[in-house]
Amino acid sequence: MADSVDKDGFTLTEEVQRRRTFAIISHPDAGKTTLTEKLLLYGGAIRLAGSVKARKASKHAVSDWMEIEKQRGISVTSSVLQFDYDGYRINILDTPGHQDFSEDTYRTLMAADSAVMLIDAAKGVEDQTVKLFRVCRQRGIPIFTFVNKLDRHGRNPFELVEELEKVLDIRAYPVNWPVGEEGAYKGVYNRKLAQVEMFEGDAKHGQWAMPSTLGRVDDPAFAEVLGEEAHRQLCEDIELLDMAGDEFDLAKVRAGELTPMFFGSALTNFGVQPFLEEFLRLAPPPRGRRSTEGDIDPESERFSAFVFKIQANMNPTHRDRLAFIRIVSGRFERGMVVRHVPSGKMVKLAQPQQFMAQERTIIDEAYPGDVIGLFDPGIFGIGDTLCVDNKGFSFEDFPVFPPEHFARVQAKDTMKRKQFIKGMTQLTQEGAVQVFRQPEIGVEAFIVGAVGMLQLEVLEYRLKGEYGVDIELRNLPYSVARWLEGDNIGKKPLKGMDSAMIIHDRYDQPVALFRNEWSLRYATEQNSSVNFALAPSRK
Ligand code: GDP
Repeated sequence: MADSVDKDGFTLTEEVQRRRTFAIISHPDAGKTTLTEKLLLYGGAIRLAGSVKARKASKHAVSDWMEIEKQRGISVTSSVLQFDYDGYRINILDTPGHQDFSEDTYRTLMAADSAVMLIDAAKGVEDQTVKLFRVCRQRGIPIFTFVNKLDRHGRNPFELVEELEKVLDIRAYPVNWPVGEEGAYKGVYNRKLAQVEMFEGDAKHGQWAMPSTLGRVDDPAFAEVLGEEAHRQLCEDIELLDMAGDEFDLAKVRAGELTPMFFGSALTNFGVQPFLEEFLRLAPPPRGRRSTEGDIDPESERFSAFVFKIQANMNPTHRDRLAFIRIVSGRFERGMVVRHVPSGKMVKLAQPQQFMAQERTIIDEAYPGDVIGLFDPGIFGIGDTLCVDNKGFSFEDFPVFPPEHFARVQAKDTMKRKQFIKGMTQLTQEGAVQVFRQPEIGVEAFIVGAVGMLQLEVLEYRLKGEYGVDIELRNLPYSVARWLEGDNIGKKPLKGMDSAMIIHDRYDQPVALFRNEWSLRYATEQNSSVNFALAPSRK
């Protein structure tokens, strides 16, 4: 069985080894959409899913929920794009690019095996890049850096390397290096191949590579093409990089400690293909995952997967929910029966979906690293494990991300209390927001926390649209949440917490909300026996 081949002529091992599943992380406007399109262009996308589809489909108003996306001109949802390139099968996990990004973005990173960090050459490392980077860092996944917009005025590349290393605390290894004067680059020098790739003005796909006959940067042939001054500068830069820079070390890259850095321009296509090729070579194939039964090897024959995202009501005529799963091990076949571990139920995966421009495509086979959408009969939750083992095992806990926006919500019409509670319960299960209780106020009102403001808007919209409940949503002036841990919690009042608020999460663990980092720091100093944890530590 282990050596049997599929319809493409590959064994399971080969299918795993040829896959690359990654997310592009960046601050809005750095050029993620442009880069994604260019990558698809090289592969000729074979399947388009999620948000690209949603953007296209929204003109047909397929979903009420998508009204928000339309009105705001943004994508709330995120999914996956799949294409083939040079024998590889590539899954790009799409993440919402909007400022008001949500937990969805973080969760999507849980399904990625590596990340491409896109940086605007003029702006450097921006806020959202930092946030997303940290999540990747925590997971220890390899991070590749693409410095974009090299076709126009950008910052000095040494400065960018330094900023990256300082702000993100990661070492960087420039794989290629801009050639020419600052802000007027003519191309990049490929350090490994000792090759200059010239950048041709506005030409959309214009690019040619000039190999070195000597395999060295001081090849006089380069001087001729580049001009003496640019060539001298390049020689100096490369010498400095070779002397003062880090050495390339694949083990460190794979451990997420060293980021290979590329320079280019997504808009003009410059440097995109060399980046893609090197990235595919260096990025890891699908990784296994830790579980209650030890590490699960992707090449094991036994199918397993986890839910990382739930999306509701993509079609308003039947109120369906779709659970997106990432396959961890084994071969997925349509119609297979698997165990939904949290409920213990056996579920038949009859209509696995992959999304094409406007229609859903049923897929027959999928492999570790792939993402598929399943109709959710109302049992799936974020982080749930699916497997075929009789006993069943669970993948390690899905992290809870600290919310940064808080509001008190209650139904405007108290007669609608039942629907309100039902809606809140279901939407929480789906992972739309995190729900907390304020012990004094019982069930009339909830405190909700979200990673992005937009999630609160979506909550309001969906409670009305799907449950017929108008809510009153009052924003609370807190931005930092910490789970309180320690022996004396609840027994002795905490000090220095006048401006903070204490609430309980759904497992009844106390959580303190602070207005800002400063009040958190003050409270931490005043209560040395208390641990202010970023996330609940529950087993
Ligand atoms: P996203 O918000 O990260 O998805 O960014 P987009 O791909 O939508 O790009 C934002 C803007 O930057 C658009 O106007 C793009 O045309 C522009 N842009 C993207 N890549 C480049 C590039 O390499 N050079 C230049 N000059 N502009 C770019």
